[in-house]
Amino acid sequence: NEFEAIEITSGDEIEELANVYNDMMHKMKNYLDQQKRFVSDVSHELRTPLAVLDGHINLLNRWGKNDPEVLDESLQASLDEVARMKKMLEEMLALARLENVDLSSEDLDCDVAKVCDHAVKNFSLIHEDFKIVLNNQLDYPVHARISENHFEQGLRILLDNAVKYSPDDRKVVKIRISEDEKFVITRVSDQGIGIGQEDIDHLFERFFRADKARNREIGGTGLGLSILARLAENYQGEIEVSSELGVGSTFTLKFPKID
Ligand code: ADP
Repeated sequence: NEFEAIEITSGDEIEELANVYNDMMHKMKNYLDQQKRFVSDVSHELRTPLAVLDGHINLLNRWGKNDPEVLDESLQASLDEVARMKKMLEEMLALARLENVDLSSEDLDCDVAKVCDHAVKNFSLIHEDFKIVLNNQLDYPVHARISENHFEQGLRILLDNAVKYSPDDRKVVKIRISEDEKFVITRVSDQGIGIGQEDIDHLFERFFRADKARNREIGGTGLGLSILARLAENYQGEIEVSSELGVGSTFTLKFPKID
């Protein structure tokens, strides 16, 4: 089912039509390739947790009935793996839903300070050991052209990552709100493990995780930032990252301002 371009150089409407056709088929092929890659990535990513689960269930079956220690450990490890797969599935669904976001039917008006405030309150409830600071540089409300739900989803991804990648003695997150002529700018900074320069270019790829061994313990999926990238793309926003290994990371989210 390889696509072959039609070559017509008649210099008239037929040639124009052929060009439109070629262009369309080219886009379709890219789309199909992307879908294929997605399915193959997903199968690959599910293989590891499934193998781990399989191993633990076998252990349980063989030793768990007589050995309470094996029972406790393997049961907990199995539950952890199931939770991981569940999270991956939820995130894949979130990604898929963003593929067909209908910009016209969304309520595209986000009071950024309000949503940040709300997120900070929730965050403090769940992560009592973290210090979170909200610094709003503006003394008037700013609105961004994105649904509040989606903005909150994006912010939550960044806050979750700040938690996951901060060591116990540096649990500090800062959110800063500002603006320029075009964008409302939300900046989330942590003092976490940081990201190596060679990894920064790959952060937004599906399933990408820096230093796999280290992350295996932290237990993420590599999908959060690809959801964020899709959000930015859908709402004509931008994301910037600056980070230093062992010092911390800053993610900057920009969404178009509503005047
Ligand atoms: P996940 O966190 O589930 O692995 P993400 O797509 O959210 O997936 O992030 C991709 C990778 O980027 C992470 O695995 C981690 O290596 C790196 N990363 C993301 N946010 C941070 C952060 N705040 N500090 C350090 N590394 C980060």
